[in-house]
Amino acid sequence: MLLSLNLAGKRVLVVGAGDVATRRVRALVGESARVKVVAPIVSPTIESLAEHGQVTLVRRTLARADLEGAWLVVAATDNPTVNSDLATWCDDAGVWCVDASNAAGSAARVAAQSSHGDVVLGVVSLGDADPRRAVRLREHLGREIDEGRVDLRHVRPRDGRVILVGSGPGASDLVTVRGMRALREADVVVADRLGATGLLAELPEGVEVIDVGKTPGRHPVPQHEINDLLVARAREGKTVVRCKGGDPFVFGRGGEEVNACLAAGIDVEVVPGISSAIAVPGLAGVPVTQRGISASVLITSGHAGPDRTALAAMANGSTVVALMAVTALPEFVDKGIAAGADPLTPVAIIERGTTPTERVTHAPLRDASRIADETAVKPPAVIVIGEVARHGLLASHVAATLRP
Ligand code: SAH
Repeated sequence: MLLSLNLAGKRVLVVGAGDVATRRVRALVGESARVKVVAPIVSPTIESLAEHGQVTLVRRTLARADLEGAWLVVAATDNPTVNSDLATWCDDAGVWCVDASNAAGSAARVAAQSSHGDVVLGVVSLGDADPRRAVRLREHLGREIDEGRVDLRHVRPRDGRVILVGSGPGASDLVTVRGMRALREADVVVADRLGATGLLAELPEGVEVIDVGKTPGRHPVPQHEINDLLVARAREGKTVVRCKGGDPFVFGRGGEEVNACLAAGIDVEVVPGISSAIAVPGLAGVPVTQRGISASVLITSGHAGPDRTALAAMANGSTVVALMAVTALPEFVDKGIAAGADPLTPVAIIERGTTPTERVTHAPLRDASRIADETAVKPPAVIVIGEVARHGLLASHVAATLRP
């Protein structure tokens, strides 16, 4: 039978201090167990854990009294007879023992396990020990969960909650594993126009998808209505995923949504995302910092044109990454040059980054708005102003391998 043990604060005796024991000790310490190791010769890792007070080390051969108070025992010496004697003592004392040298006959076995949020996956074999086989199986099954092929919606009624998920700049495989898992837990997904919208098509049947996407020129759903919607659905006991482009807190109004939930007493969690501000230039061969070229980056909203900070950064030759700045590009050019930016500062404009229709336009600052006009640059676009945007800064073969 496969049982899950909560080892926090429980006494666990590990006998032996070689490779197997060390691996077990590390895992046990990770579970906050009170670990005592008994062994005459000890691995450097166990030695160091003992020095840091994370395990109690008894440097000698085992005595029966060591069993006293143990809740679980791991017999992992390199001597099968010692292990099996210990297992017999444990049997007599009614304590579970994991006998490392006799997997098939052992009272308890350790599962090959992996954690996926609140789900722990464990694989045990009832046959002879073959740990790599168990690990292979666990990895396969874990991937099924992490890559979003398993429906993780809760079945029992529970308190509703909201998870803000940054879904990345657009490509479906630039969402985080945690973000993907949240999507699989969702009863309701409140989605934007930007980000990994392709993921919405893969949601299990019955998930309610509400599109509050904003298109320039068209009326977006006002933020307070989005906030109300999140709270209302969570109050119905639903797990609500607010799926956002990039990272929720980079011009994403994530803070307002978090506050709305907190004010309503709704449990809210944030899953960071890969922001277009850094990833879109990066995938287009524009590193936002580069040793010897730029040591600081300003990410600015170009919505209302360049502010004083952006102009100062342009004049100082820092990297400026402007989002929502297509309309205001002429202002960045004119005011930037007036503020002292070099008219030949390279500019890169990346439209629809990480998607199949991505387009990259390069121009010197003084010509950037004219060229953007001629090539009909449209949002969504990330505009990078600074030396790092110089065409071919990264050797072309490097840029090629960076592309998906
Ligand atoms: N929270 C998001 C940004 C939201 S503001 C993030 O962290 O990425 C919306 C702006 O982001 C767009 O106007 C555009 O400037 C930029 N943007 C988002 N996705 C983009 C993409 N795939 N390609 C180019 N720009 C993008």
